[in-house]
Amino acid sequence: MTSRRGKILILVGAPGAGKGTQAQMLEQRCGIPQISTGDILRAIAKQDSDLGREVARIQKSGQLVSDAVLADVVRERTGRPDCEDGYILDGFPRTLAQARTLEVMSKEQEREILTVYVRVERHELMNRLTGRRTCPGCNEIFNVHSRPPRVEGVCDNCGQGLFRRDDDNEETVTQRITTWADQTKPVYEHYRTTNRLVTIDGAKAPEEVFADIMGAVGPCEAESA
Ligand SMILES: [Zn+2]
Repeated sequence: MTSRRGKILILVGAPGAGKGTQAQMLEQRCGIPQISTGDILRAIAKQDSDLGREVARIQKSGQLVSDAVLADVVRERTGRPDCEDGYILDGFPRTLAQARTLEVMSKEQEREILTVYVRVERHELMNRLTGRRTCPGCNEIFNVHSRPPRVEGVCDNCGQGLFRRDDDNEETVTQRITTWADQTKPVYEHYRTTNRLVTIDGAKAPEEVFADIMGAVGPCEAESA
Protein backbone atom coordinates (compact mmCIF):
# COMPACT_ATOMS: atom_id res chain seq x y z
CA MET A 1 0.00 0.00 0.00
CA THR A 2 1.39 3.36 -0.97
CA SER A 3 0.67 6.17 1.39
CA ARG A 4 -0.05 9.56 -0.12
CA ARG A 5 1.29 11.35 2.90
CA GLY A 6 4.78 12.81 2.80
CA LYS A 7 7.53 10.40 3.60
CA ILE A 8 9.85 10.12 6.54
CA LEU A 9 13.31 10.57 5.08
CA ILE A 10 16.44 9.42 6.80
CA LEU A 11 19.63 10.77 5.29
CA VAL A 12 22.68 8.64 5.91
CA GLY A 13 26.19 9.68 5.00
CA ALA A 14 29.71 9.63 6.39
CA PRO A 15 31.36 12.81 7.66
CA GLY A 16 32.26 14.79 4.53
CA ALA A 17 29.64 13.10 2.31
CA GLY A 18 27.65 16.32 2.00
CA LYS A 19 24.57 15.13 3.86
CA GLY A 20 24.08 18.50 5.53
CA THR A 21 24.10 20.33 2.19
CA GLN A 22 21.53 17.93 0.76
CA ALA A 23 19.27 18.25 3.80
CA GLN A 24 19.43 22.02 3.43
CA MET A 25 18.51 21.83 -0.27
CA LEU A 26 15.56 19.55 0.48
CA GLU A 27 14.44 21.94 3.18
CA GLN A 28 14.72 25.07 1.03
CA ARG A 29 13.31 23.73 -2.23
CA CYS A 30 10.69 21.29 -1.01
CA GLY A 31 9.81 22.82 2.34
CA ILE A 32 10.54 19.53 4.07
CA PRO A 33 11.89 20.40 7.51
CA GLN A 34 14.93 18.72 8.91
CA ILE A 35 14.21 17.46 12.40
CA SER A 36 17.43 17.32 14.38
CA THR A 37 16.99 15.57 17.72
CA GLY A 38 20.20 17.21 18.97
CA ASP A 39 18.82 20.70 18.28
CA ILE A 40 15.45 19.89 19.83
CA LEU A 41 17.00 18.46 22.98
CA ARG A 42 19.25 21.50 23.36
CA ALA A 43 16.18 23.74 23.08
CA ILE A 44 14.15 21.64 25.55
CA ALA A 45 17.02 21.67 28.06
CA LYS A 46 16.66 25.46 28.27
CA GLN A 47 12.94 25.32 29.03
CA ASP A 48 11.60 25.93 32.51
CA SER A 49 9.63 22.68 32.77
CA ASP A 50 9.96 19.24 34.35
CA LEU A 51 11.07 17.74 31.03
CA GLY A 52 13.46 20.64 30.44
CA ARG A 53 15.14 20.19 33.81
CA GLU A 54 15.30 16.42 33.35
CA VAL A 55 16.94 16.70 29.90
CA ALA A 56 19.36 19.35 31.19
CA ARG A 57 20.32 17.07 34.10
CA ILE A 58 20.92 14.07 31.80
CA GLN A 59 23.00 16.09 29.33
CA LYS A 60 25.05 17.68 32.11
CA SER A 61 25.95 14.23 33.46
CA GLY A 62 27.16 13.21 30.00
CA GLN A 63 24.56 10.47 29.67
CA LEU A 64 22.31 9.87 26.68
CA VAL A 65 18.65 10.74 26.78
CA SER A 66 16.59 7.52 26.98
CA ASP A 67 14.88 6.07 23.92
CA ALA A 68 11.49 6.69 25.54
CA VAL A 69 12.15 10.41 26.02
CA LEU A 70 13.63 10.67 22.53
CA ALA A 71 10.58 8.95 21.04
CA ASP A 72 8.24 11.40 22.79
CA VAL A 73 10.28 14.32 21.54
CA VAL A 74 10.30 13.09 17.93
CA ARG A 75 6.60 12.20 18.02
CA GLU A 76 5.63 15.63 19.32
CA ARG A 77 7.84 17.55 16.88
CA THR A 78 6.84 15.56 13.79
CA GLY A 79 3.15 15.94 14.62
CA ARG A 80 3.30 19.67 13.92
CA PRO A 81 1.80 21.17 10.72
CA ASP A 82 5.14 21.93 9.03
CA CYS A 83 5.82 18.18 8.87
CA GLU A 84 2.62 17.46 6.95
CA ASP A 85 4.38 16.99 3.58
CA GLY A 86 7.08 14.88 5.13
CA TYR A 87 10.27 15.50 7.04
CA ILE A 88 13.92 14.57 7.30
CA LEU A 89 15.21 12.97 10.46
CA ASP A 90 18.68 13.88 11.67
CA GLY A 91 20.24 12.03 14.60
CA PHE A 92 17.38 9.55 14.88
CA PRO A 93 17.19 6.55 14.69
CA ARG A 94 20.71 5.81 15.93
CA THR A 95 19.98 2.33 17.31
CA LEU A 96 17.81 -0.64 16.34
CA ALA A 97 15.54 0.02 19.32
CA GLN A 98 14.98 3.54 18.03
CA ALA A 99 14.37 2.18 14.51
CA ARG A 100 11.64 -0.07 15.93
CA THR A 101 10.07 2.90 17.69
CA LEU A 102 10.10 4.76 14.39
CA GLU A 103 8.29 1.82 12.72
CA VAL A 104 5.43 2.26 15.20
CA MET A 105 5.42 6.00 14.69
CA SER A 106 5.38 5.71 10.91
CA LYS A 107 2.29 3.49 11.11
CA GLU A 108 0.56 5.94 13.44
CA GLN A 109 1.35 8.74 11.00
CA GLU A 110 0.60 6.58 7.93
CA ARG A 111 3.91 7.48 6.36
CA GLU A 112 6.50 5.45 4.53
CA ILE A 113 10.12 5.51 5.60
CA LEU A 114 12.85 5.96 3.01
CA THR A 115 16.52 5.93 3.87
CA VAL A 116 18.81 7.74 1.45
CA TYR A 117 22.44 6.75 1.70
CA VAL A 118 24.76 9.36 0.20
CA ARG A 119 27.76 7.20 -0.60
CA VAL A 120 31.27 8.56 -1.04
CA GLU A 121 34.42 6.42 -1.28
CA ARG A 122 36.68 6.57 1.74
CA HIS A 123 39.65 8.08 -0.11
CA GLU A 124 37.40 10.83 -1.47
CA LEU A 125 36.10 11.53 2.05
CA MET A 126 39.71 11.74 3.21
CA ASN A 127 40.53 14.23 0.43
CA ARG A 128 37.52 16.35 1.24
CA LEU A 129 38.14 16.45 4.98
CA THR A 130 41.93 16.54 5.25
CA GLY A 131 42.18 18.97 2.32
CA ARG A 132 40.07 21.60 4.01
CA ARG A 133 41.72 24.93 4.77
CA THR A 134 39.88 27.64 6.64
CA CYS A 135 40.46 31.38 6.66
CA PRO A 136 40.55 32.85 10.19
CA GLY A 137 39.67 36.27 8.75
CA CYS A 138 36.50 35.66 6.74
CA ASN A 139 35.77 31.96 7.51
CA GLU A 140 35.94 31.02 3.83
CA ILE A 141 36.67 27.32 3.33
CA PHE A 142 39.05 26.15 0.61
CA ASN A 143 40.19 22.66 -0.34
CA VAL A 144 43.70 21.91 -1.57
CA HIS A 145 42.30 19.16 -3.85
CA SER A 146 39.02 20.53 -5.19
CA ARG A 147 39.08 24.26 -4.48
CA PRO A 148 42.62 25.54 -3.97
CA PRO A 149 43.23 29.23 -3.26
CA ARG A 150 44.99 31.18 -6.05
CA VAL A 151 48.09 31.49 -3.86
CA GLU A 152 48.92 28.44 -1.76
CA GLY A 153 47.99 28.92 1.89
CA VAL A 154 46.51 32.40 1.37
CA CYS A 155 42.86 33.45 1.38
CA ASP A 156 41.57 34.74 -1.99
CA ASN A 157 39.20 37.16 -0.27
CA CYS A 158 41.19 38.79 2.47
CA GLY A 159 44.79 37.64 2.11
CA GLN A 160 45.07 36.02 5.53
CA GLY A 161 46.96 32.77 6.06
CA LEU A 162 44.78 29.65 5.83
CA PHE A 163 44.88 26.98 8.52
CA ARG A 164 43.81 23.37 8.95
CA ARG A 165 41.50 22.58 11.83
CA ASP A 166 42.87 20.12 14.39
CA ASP A 167 40.14 17.57 13.73
CA ASP A 168 40.86 17.56 9.98
CA ASN A 169 44.13 15.63 10.29
CA GLU A 170 44.43 12.12 8.73
CA GLU A 171 44.29 10.19 11.99
CA THR A 172 41.26 11.97 13.42
CA VAL A 173 39.38 11.84 10.11
CA THR A 174 40.02 8.09 9.75
CA GLN A 175 38.74 7.59 13.29
CA ARG A 176 35.64 9.71 12.66
CA ILE A 177 34.75 7.73 9.52
CA THR A 178 35.30 4.36 11.22
CA THR A 179 33.24 5.35 14.26
CA TRP A 180 30.48 6.61 11.99
CA ALA A 181 30.45 3.33 9.99
CA ASP A 182 30.32 1.16 13.14
CA GLN A 183 27.47 3.19 14.64
CA THR A 184 25.46 3.39 11.45
CA LYS A 185 25.70 -0.25 10.36
CA PRO A 186 22.80 -1.81 12.38
CA VAL A 187 20.31 0.88 11.35
CA TYR A 188 21.59 0.87 7.77
CA GLU A 189 21.13 -2.92 7.58
CA HIS A 190 17.64 -2.65 9.08
CA TYR A 191 16.46 -0.49 6.17
CA ARG A 192 18.55 -2.24 3.53
CA THR A 193 17.13 -5.68 4.33
CA THR A 194 13.57 -4.31 4.30
CA ASN A 195 14.08 -2.65 0.89
CA ARG A 196 13.75 0.90 2.11
CA LEU A 197 17.24 2.07 1.36
CA VAL A 198 18.45 3.79 -1.79
CA THR A 199 22.10 4.48 -2.44
CA ILE A 200 23.02 7.74 -4.15
CA ASP A 201 26.45 8.49 -5.62
CA GLY A 202 27.68 11.34 -3.41
CA ALA A 203 30.88 11.85 -5.42
CA LYS A 204 28.99 13.98 -7.97
CA ALA A 205 28.44 17.73 -7.74
CA PRO A 206 25.89 18.78 -5.06
CA GLU A 207 23.25 19.75 -7.67
CA GLU A 208 23.53 16.34 -9.36
CA VAL A 209 23.37 14.53 -6.04
CA PHE A 210 20.25 16.52 -5.22
CA ALA A 211 18.66 15.61 -8.56
CA ASP A 212 19.39 11.91 -7.91
CA ILE A 213 17.85 12.16 -4.44
CA MET A 214 14.72 13.78 -5.90
CA GLY A 215 14.56 10.96 -8.43
CA ALA A 216 14.51 8.44 -5.60
CA VAL A 217 12.21 10.36 -3.27
CA GLY A 218 9.73 11.59 -5.87
CA PRO A 219 8.71 15.17 -6.69
CA CYS A 220 8.07 17.44 -3.75
CA GLU A 221 4.76 19.22 -3.22
CA ALA A 222 6.27 22.63 -3.93
CA GLU A 223 7.48 21.46 -7.36
CA SER A 224 4.43 19.49 -8.43
CA ALA A 225 2.03 22.27 -7.42
ZN1 LIG B 1 39.64 35.27 4.19
